[in-house]
Amino acid sequence: MVREGGPDWGDSAWFAGNLPVMAPPASNGHIAIEALNLVKRYGVIRAVDGVNFQIRRGEIVGFLGANGAGKTTTLRMLCGLLTPTSGAALIDGIDIFTRPLEAKARLGYLDEEPFVHPHLTGREFLTYIADLYRMPRGPERQQRMERLLGLFELADRNGELIGAYSHGMRQKIGLASLLIREPSVLLLDEPTNGLDPRSGRLVKDLLEELASRGTTVLLSTHILEVAQALCHRVAIIDRGHIVATGTMDELRTQAGAEHASLEDLFLKLTAGPESRELIERLLAPKQ
Ligand code: ATP
Repeated sequence: MVREGGPDWGDSAWFAGNLPVMAPPASNGHIAIEALNLVKRYGVIRAVDGVNFQIRRGEIVGFLGANGAGKTTTLRMLCGLLTPTSGAALIDGIDIFTRPLEAKARLGYLDEEPFVHPHLTGREFLTYIADLYRMPRGPERQQRMERLLGLFELADRNGELIGAYSHGMRQKIGLASLLIREPSVLLLDEPTNGLDPRSGRLVKDLLEELASRGTTVLLSTHILEVAQALCHRVAIIDRGHIVATGTMDELRTQAGAEHASLEDLFLKLTAGPESRELIERLLAPKQ
């Protein structure tokens, strides 16, 4: 587990009474997300260049990489939003490109700019999503919606349109719109980006609880404390290539650095120009 030295996220009992029971186990075994030699080229740019990984059911995996490394492109291919140049993406063993409806029914994807409807209220948006995914109407669905709105502190925004929400509130209603459907796989592009510390903690607690109930989570983040505290494993991508995957201990072994922090490992494994030297050059007195 990467989870190490991180805070104890505390009592999960509160969630236990407020979360729906997750979708039944995948029928095909324990691999919930699989990238098979995924490639995405834009002209000469190789945004993603042969990415392979497998994520087991119930795992939380952090997807780390520098700006432009290929995280969003990979996530968008895994969720079927972007067609790969080559390769395949499987959700619960189902190919997202050849059997998109079946795969997408199991999947919740949060984009770095969540897809939300600005002309609807939060409650209307969740109703719209629930209808879109043909969730049966009735008290159970209504109760789940109200619990999610309450959980994300959006229940009291009566009549307020999403277009007027702050960035963090849009992020939260985006997450709520995934969770109302109870997907068994979550692909989250920087889910804690822009959230206040309390909401960030809530999302981390929630993901941990969902994973303990069998949901599989792949999340990209630049916040290494989030990855270290929450994720069972991390995958590091650099210029379109996966350069390391594993638990903290496995990464330390791969990098040959026994006591390194995740930040040390990240910098070592994604070595760019030596920033200290560049800063000194920038700030050097003019000659
Ligand atoms: P960040 O952390 O900044 O969000 P990222 O790891 O998510 O970065 P991507 O958005 O996947 O990176 O981009 C990977 C590479 O692909 C970058 O070089 C980017 O410029 C390029 N790229 C992404 N989308 C396109 C596009 N539509 N057309 C051309 N190039 C693109």
